[in-house]
Amino acid sequence: MHVIDLITKKRNGEILTKEEIEFLIQTYTMGNIPDYQMSALLMAIFFQGMNHEEATHLALSMRDSGDVMDLSEIKGIKVDKHSTGGVGDKVTLVLAPIVASLGAKVAKMSGRGLGHTGGTIDKLESIEGFHVEVAPQDFINQVNEIGIAVVGQSGHIAPADKKLYALRDVTATVDIIPLIASSIMSKKLASGADAIVLDVKVGHGAFMKTEEEAKELAQLMVDIGKLAGKKVTAILTNMNEPLGFKIGNALEVYEAILSLKGQGPKDLMDVVTVIASQLLIDAQIAVDDQEARTMIEESIQSGKAYDKFVAFVKAQGGHVDVLSHFEDFISKDLVDVVADKEGFIVDMDALSIGRAAMILGAGRETKADLIDPSVGIEVHKKIGDYIKVGDVIATLYVNQKGIEEAKKLVLNSLILGKEKVEQKLIRGIVR
Ligand code: URA
Repeated sequence: MHVIDLITKKRNGEILTKEEIEFLIQTYTMGNIPDYQMSALLMAIFFQGMNHEEATHLALSMRDSGDVMDLSEIKGIKVDKHSTGGVGDKVTLVLAPIVASLGAKVAKMSGRGLGHTGGTIDKLESIEGFHVEVAPQDFINQVNEIGIAVVGQSGHIAPADKKLYALRDVTATVDIIPLIASSIMSKKLASGADAIVLDVKVGHGAFMKTEEEAKELAQLMVDIGKLAGKKVTAILTNMNEPLGFKIGNALEVYEAILSLKGQGPKDLMDVVTVIASQLLIDAQIAVDDQEARTMIEESIQSGKAYDKFVAFVKAQGGHVDVLSHFEDFISKDLVDVVADKEGFIVDMDALSIGRAAMILGAGRETKADLIDPSVGIEVHKKIGDYIKVGDVIATLYVNQKGIEEAKKLVLNSLILGKEKVEQKLIRGIVR
C-alpha cells in the first residue's frame, strides 16, 4: 500500500477499507508517515467525510495503537462517562461518588483542560496532595476497595490519537464529526469499561453548535461502541450557558462539594441525575429511571455520596481536612461585573465565559501553560433571569492576570431581550 494512493482515494471521495485504515494508523504511529502526508489525508477526510464503518475502523485502529486496559480483575460492571467538553462542567466530580456509593464500579480516566473547556484532572489537582497518576494495579485495587478511581490518562492509551489530535489541532481539522467520534471512542474503548454514557454538549460553549450536529456525533459514537461490543448511551445536554454557577478549578470542586451535600444548582443536578440514572441501570443496580432517581436522592440526603467523595480523595492522597472549608482555596481578590443594560437574558455565549476564565488563569491556551486553581468566575444570572442596570451579573475571582479582558468578555456574553425564554437542558438521548 502506498500512502499517496490512499490520500488520492479519499480526496476523490472513495471509501477507505479496514485494511487501509489500519495500515495508515499503524504506519503513522510508528513514525513512518510524515506529518505533511497525514495532514493532506486529514484535510481530504475533512472535505469528503467518512461513513460509519470507516469511522469505526479508525476508532478501533487507534484503540489498538497502545494499551487496552484489562479491568477484568474488578468485580462487577465497570461504568464510565465522558463529556465532549463544556464550561463549568463538573458533572464527573458529583456523579462518580454518587454512583460509586450505590455500588457501581467507576474506573475512570480523565483529561486535562485545553482552551475554554476545563478538565476533571486539573480540577481534582486543586485539592492539596491529590495525585492523578496511579499505577494500573493500584488503580484496579482502589476500584475494588472503594468503588471509584479517577486518574489521568496514561500516555500508552491510544497513542495514535494523541499524535493525530496534535496534528489536527494545527491543521484546522479538529471539528469534523467522524474524527471527533473516533478520537473520543478510541480512548473510551481502550479504558476498558463495560458501559459508557457520553454527555454530548450542544450550544455556544460546545464543539457541536447545533442539535443536528450533536445528534449525528452522538449516533456515530453509539454505533462505534455497539460495533466494539460495549453498551454506549449518549445524552445531549445544553451548553448555551455554563453548567451550575462556578467556573474555575477550586471553584468547581467547591460547587461539587456543595452539590454532594444536597445544595447543588438545579441544572447541574439535572444533568448529573440523568447520566447517573443511566449508569445505574447499565450497571444493573436500578431497574428503571424512577428507581435510579430515588436511589440517587437517598445517596445525597443520607450523606453516603459525600462520604464516598471523601474516601475517594483520601485514597488518591488528597488532604481531606481541607474539604470542609474548601472556599479558602478560592482567590479572595474579587471583581464584580455589573450590568450596563436592562432586560431578560435570552442567550449567553458560554464560550466567551470559558475564555474569560481561561484568561484569568483557570485554563490553558497552550499545553505548556500553568493554571492557577484559585481563579475563575461565578455567574449570578442565567438565561431567563431579568437584569437591571447596576446588577452584579458575575464575580471574577482574580490574581492580577487578564481582569479587564475577562470583564469585557463576560459582559459581552449576554444577549438581552424583552421576553423571558425557557431553556431545554436535556436535548435528547441516543441509545
Ligand atoms: N475530544 C477528543 O478527545 N477528541 C476530539 O477530537 C475532540 C474532543
